[in-house]
Amino acid sequence: MSLQERDKAHIWHPLTQHKTHPDVLPIHKAKGALLYDENENTYIDGIASWYTCIYGHCHPYIIEKVYAQMQQLDQIVFSGFTHQPAVELSEKLIRILPQNQQKVFFSDNGSTTTEIGIKMALQYHYNKGNSRNTILAFEEGFHGDTFGAMSASDLSVYNGPFEEHFINVVRIPVPTMDTIDAVLEQLKQLITTHQIAGFIYEPLVQGAAGMKMYPAEAIHPILELCKSNEIICIADEVMTGFGKTGPHFASESIATKPDIMCLSKALTAGMMPMGVTTCTQKIYDAFYSNDMGKGLFHAHTYTANPLACASASAGIDLLVSDEIQQSKKRIAQAHIEFVNRLEKHSKVTNVRTLGVIVAFELDIKMERYGKLRDQLFEHFKNQGVYLRPLGSTIYILPPYVTTTDQLNKIYQSIDSLLNSL
Ligand SMILES: *Cc1c(COP(=O)(O)O)cnc(C)c1O
Repeated sequence: MSLQERDKAHIWHPLTQHKTHPDVLPIHKAKGALLYDENENTYIDGIASWYTCIYGHCHPYIIEKVYAQMQQLDQIVFSGFTHQPAVELSEKLIRILPQNQQKVFFSDNGSTTTEIGIKMALQYHYNKGNSRNTILAFEEGFHGDTFGAMSASDLSVYNGPFEEHFINVVRIPVPTMDTIDAVLEQLKQLITTHQIAGFIYEPLVQGAAGMKMYPAEAIHPILELCKSNEIICIADEVMTGFGKTGPHFASESIATKPDIMCLSKALTAGMMPMGVTTCTQKIYDAFYSNDMGKGLFHAHTYTANPLACASASAGIDLLVSDEIQQSKKRIAQAHIEFVNRLEKHSKVTNVRTLGVIVAFELDIKMERYGKLRDQLFEHFKNQGVYLRPLGSTIYILPPYVTTTDQLNKIYQSIDSLLNSL
């Protein structure tokens, strides 16, 4: 039996309607920016495997560090114990995060980091005796697939079965420089009619919405208004974290810093699943008490797994290296030239780039997960490129180690698609 047939026998894939979905593609190895299928065909990983493997797949330095850790300590309960990899990682994170971040709470994926961020905001007010039961979020935001995260997400086209179980969420549109005053008015109104505990937002880029971008100056007054009303600001940097927008974190580009930050995806360089929710001393102090019940009673069995910590620690070493910083600049520069070319094309609208991200819309009608999307996916696959269009949005977020030749091959696969339309 082929691997595809064996897969079909027992595996239920995510985001997949198995009845109508085309066959899945077995990948048997990956190195740098390349994925290899069973016939040794290669595909350039144009989205860094969902923004995780940003230093390239199977990076020798990450492997070396995780392998060394494997022989030392594999797993330990993180309640009552600690270990070197977690401590070292917390120190490295605090060094590169916005200065107000002081404490690191570990979990194991992006959804749990936002779930924990939301719980921190709700319990912060609970511990202070405030009755605040609502979370504020952006329209079209995405924060994960667990219940709290899903409630805060607005991309719930397929979440119908769960909607009546959602937590309380109110929404504002993502502001532009033209709409900011209207959005602020709307928010002022919501603050008088709702008990808002926290505001969760994806800084500068809404990933799952199709890499929608907005300016730092537009969100700054919203965060200010939140802060002056003791609404806890939760930056969901699960996608934007670790350099995708230029600086290490998108929040660095925004004048008002978040109270809480959610990190996952590239955190561990794509080697291991892990997430962290970081916060300021002020948040931590609201849980610090002789009263047991004021603590944060949230844990996952694999919290701060030593191998994941070792992988994340090694990832940060790479992130801050000259080599990666230079390479990121090279990619961002190449993107700018590509974008200039794209803008001239008649079938393309809304071309945008920030850091290593490029996105644009095809000027044609289509469904987010429909047939045409599958055809686009096939086109890129046939060109030896892995891109994953979202509806009519095509975007690139390549690993930082993608070579100029590989980058050109991604661009050419887009050119040839546009010429075929
Ligand atoms: C991917 C993502 C999540 C969810 O992370 P998972 O690890 O898939 O649970 C949350 N927020 C943002 C902004 C994301 O991009």
